[in-house]
Amino acid sequence: MRFYRDLGLTEFYRRPVDPGVLESSALLSGSVEPDSPQTLRAPSLGAVSSPPRVGQHEPTQEPPIPPRKPIYTPPAASPAVPANDRLTALRAIREDIGDCTRCALHTGRNKIVFADGSPNARLFFVGEGPGADEDAQGLPFVGKAGQLLNNMINAMGLKREEVYIANVVKCRPPGNRTPEPDEANTCSPFLFQQIDVVHPEVLVALGATAATYLLGQRQPLAGLRGRIHAFRGTKLIVTYHPAFLLRDPRQKKEAWADLQIAMRELGLQLPSKI
Ligand code: URA
Repeated sequence: MRFYRDLGLTEFYRRPVDPGVLESSALLSGSVEPDSPQTLRAPSLGAVSSPPRVGQHEPTQEPPIPPRKPIYTPPAASPAVPANDRLTALRAIREDIGDCTRCALHTGRNKIVFADGSPNARLFFVGEGPGADEDAQGLPFVGKAGQLLNNMINAMGLKREEVYIANVVKCRPPGNRTPEPDEANTCSPFLFQQIDVVHPEVLVALGATAATYLLGQRQPLAGLRGRIHAFRGTKLIVTYHPAFLLRDPRQKKEAWADLQIAMRELGLQLPSKI
């Protein structure tokens, strides 16, 4: 409710599913190359998704990934893990990480932030890396950005415990800077393993860093949002990072439009009226 109110939305009506969304299932079932740039454009989302008009507020940029350093291409997806074995498989990944010293971020960390949520989640959120609160508690998205993420999850009709949340890097970058490519490339294989184990129906990349390291290529967020990417046998949606939305709340409407794409893919109903 709070997220809806923040968006200035007080009434919702059910609308028929956009045929474009249905088309996406066909695209994902084989006729489109994985991670193809020709993936589906966003369905029309009415008032909340209309493109900015001339003179309307343009979003400020999210911080760029440091330039001219390679971003690794993600490895091939691992075989599916049966639902009953996922918790054990995730624990094995955490054990493999151990008391990690693989990159420089370990020197400044307090706690490794592995993940939070259900091993059988249908929806998986990927953030950038822990901040101060997460570093202190050892859990992702527990600070101010986490509060907004919780509101976004609740606005989708879900509870935080029902989704899975993890980051590209599992140790806090100093001063909350963007992870360097070598740090992200070192840590992201663990994220890919987590994704393969949970095998969600929908992944949501929160911000440019998550989108870049999931897709294995730098692209402006604007070109990635609003469509469904075929990714590791699942559907990836890219949206703004909650910390960015806290800095620029006018973009919440756009983020909500992205989350509605995820909701439709998951068969979740928009509230008919709130
Ligand atoms: N921002 C992130 O990207 N991840 C967190 O866990 C917290 C804030």
